[in-house]
Amino acid sequence: MSRELAGSLDACAGRHQARPRGPFFGTGRGVASVLALMLVLPAVSARADELIVYSERNESLIKPLFDAYTKETGVDIRFITDQAGPLLERLKAEGESTPADLLITVDAGNLWLAAQEGVLAPVESETLTANIPAHLRDPGNRWFGLSVRARTIVYSTERVSPGDLTTYEDLAAPKWKHRLCLRTSKKVYNQSLVAMMLERLGPEETARVVRGWVNNLATEPFANDTKLMEAIAAGQCDVGIVNTYYFGRLQREKPNVKLALFWPNQDSNGVHVNISGAGVTRYAKHRAEAVKLLEWLSAGEAQGAFADMNLEYPANPQVQPDPAVAAWGSFKPDTINVTVAGSRQAEAVMLMDRAGYR
Ligand code: FE
Repeated sequence: MSRELAGSLDACAGRHQARPRGPFFGTGRGVASVLALMLVLPAVSARADELIVYSERNESLIKPLFDAYTKETGVDIRFITDQAGPLLERLKAEGESTPADLLITVDAGNLWLAAQEGVLAPVESETLTANIPAHLRDPGNRWFGLSVRARTIVYSTERVSPGDLTTYEDLAAPKWKHRLCLRTSKKVYNQSLVAMMLERLGPEETARVVRGWVNNLATEPFANDTKLMEAIAAGQCDVGIVNTYYFGRLQREKPNVKLALFWPNQDSNGVHVNISGAGVTRYAKHRAEAVKLLEWLSAGEAQGAFADMNLEYPANPQVQPDPAVAAWGSFKPDTINVTVAGSRQAEAVMLMDRAGYR
């Protein structure tokens, strides 16, 4: 994933890029970005023996895998990276003339939207349905999770005992007054978390919880998970909610950081999980090859590497996580279908706005 990691268009400049062969007719949001993208891309058309991927997941996380695939199969893969919004706008604008065979995004909400917008085609694959658990893929088989990201509680080991923690909902309790840090509600990760809560708890209880979180904030919401954890480490607050791979990155940089992860909701629905994943485009020119790549990514070493490179969890339960990730302990994940992250996203955004969560 991660525009946060290193993401910029510069990061993907070079020979691994594709551009559409037809003229571009775009309207609406993201067009400026799409046009900017097209200006920096060399004019290249897809050859018969290569695949073209549009990816929200960062180059550093996908290129090593694509290189390995090329080595193994002889199939070349070219890709562009950008945020999900511009990539989706581009696919819609290109329509039938798109050179893209596969779309990779982070967050099920983005994949759900791509499917809703009609740019993905169903894939009936016994390999994929066997490798990827049902709650991590589209019930209509238009996209499949390839890695799992857990959004869990992080706390100060100096000021909080794990015995003080239980659930996401409990972070709304008065005992956390002025002790909670949150990332902005504008980030899709929190929209997905609240969307899943809506599905589990209903609108009234979810609104009560989110209002409670806002009441407990020690400071304004942060732009990203890393800043949030740095605030906890600095003593600005005691507890927060983050994706575990950001914790993993911080731990690599600062092995002695006085923070730890906690797995909430283990006696109820489980830890909120989301995915990064992929779908074959509706107008893929190399559909069979794109399905093969997707299947390859869903199993074995490729599946492990896809998760490990960003310290995430493999979506395929047969594949073990990286030892650094496994060291955080095992947990029960929420097995509600991640589609909910998309289908209730608008409702979640409204709820957070009404609750004063900025
Ligand atoms: Fe991220």
